[in-house]
Parts: sequence; C-alpha cells; structure tokens
Amino acid sequence: MAAAFANVVKALPEAAVESRYMELSEDAAGEAVLSMLEGLEARDALVQQLESVTHLKASVTAWHCAACNRLTEFLNKDCKAEGHTMTKTSTLKRFWTCDHCNARVTTLGVRFPANRCSRCNNPSLEFTACSMYRGPKNLKPAGGTTGLACKENLFATLEQHPEMGKRTFR
Ligand SMILES: [Zn+2]
Ligand SMILES: [Zn+2]
Repeated sequence: MAAAFANVVKALPEAAVESRYMELSEDAAGEAVLSMLEGLEARDALVQQLESVTHLKASVTAWHCAACNRLTEFLNKDCKAEGHTMTKTSTLKRFWTCDHCNARVTTLGVRFPANRCSRCNNPSLEFTACSMYRGPKNLKPAGGTTGLACKENLFATLEQHPEMGKRTFR
C-alpha cells in the first residue's frame, strides 16, 4: 500500500499532491511533503483566524435596559445607579466607518447606525459596513525577502483574492 502511494506521489504534479494530502499516509508522503503540509496547515489556521476577524458582524453579550430601552455592551453605570432593570442578552455587533470622516463606529442589535457620527456629527448618517479587523496599515509587496508564509503577504494576497480565504485543502 505504501509503495503504491509513493508511486502516486511521484506521478502527481505538485498542486495535486497539495490538494490530496489528506489521503496520503505519513510514510508515503515523505519529509519534503510533510514540511510542505506543515506550512499549509499553518496557512490554513491563519486563514481561519482571518475569516473570524473579517466578518462584518459579531455575536456579543450586551445589557438591555428596560427603562431606557437600549443596548449597551457594558453595564451602564447610570442605569444601574438609577435602579433600571438590566437584562443580559445576546445581540449582533456591527462595524462601520463614517463616510465623511472615516471614524470607526459600532452598533448593537440594529441593522444600521441610527445616531450621528460622534466625531464629525454629520447629519446624513452615511456609514459603510466594515470588518471588525482594522487591517494591516503597511502591506509589504508580495515576493519580498520575508517569504511566502509571512503574515503580511498572506493578508495582501487575501485582499487581492478574497476567494482564496474560502479555500479548504480537501
Ligand atoms: Zn437605563
Ligand atoms: Zn464622521
């Protein structure tokens, strides 16, 4: 069985080996393939991590005040001081940037920001949904001396080819 696999490994072009590694036994795969797989697994983990931070919304625990009828992520001291009934609930937090001043805004439990941007106070309420992840400020050019697996390159690649983040090595 192992010998048969070894022949298959040799016959397959590299890309095919990469996508079929789940089927290969460690013995048949050999040192070179193993080290390549370790790289892929690390990349896979990083992609998953990336996906978790590129979501536009997140499920969070928040406090709902019955008296004020509003949600806050943290227990509101004023409400507590005034004896309002606070209940803990789960809600969706969304992330936005103000179209006018680029300030970051978050909302709880609503589809769209209902309040003016606290920085520029623009009345138009124009916001763009964004990721909770702020993103790398200075991307290194791909193919630099830092190596393919370096985080910055992966971020850059995912930005240019978002479909890559969807890839599962199966
Ligand atoms: Zn209250
Ligand atoms: Zn603004």
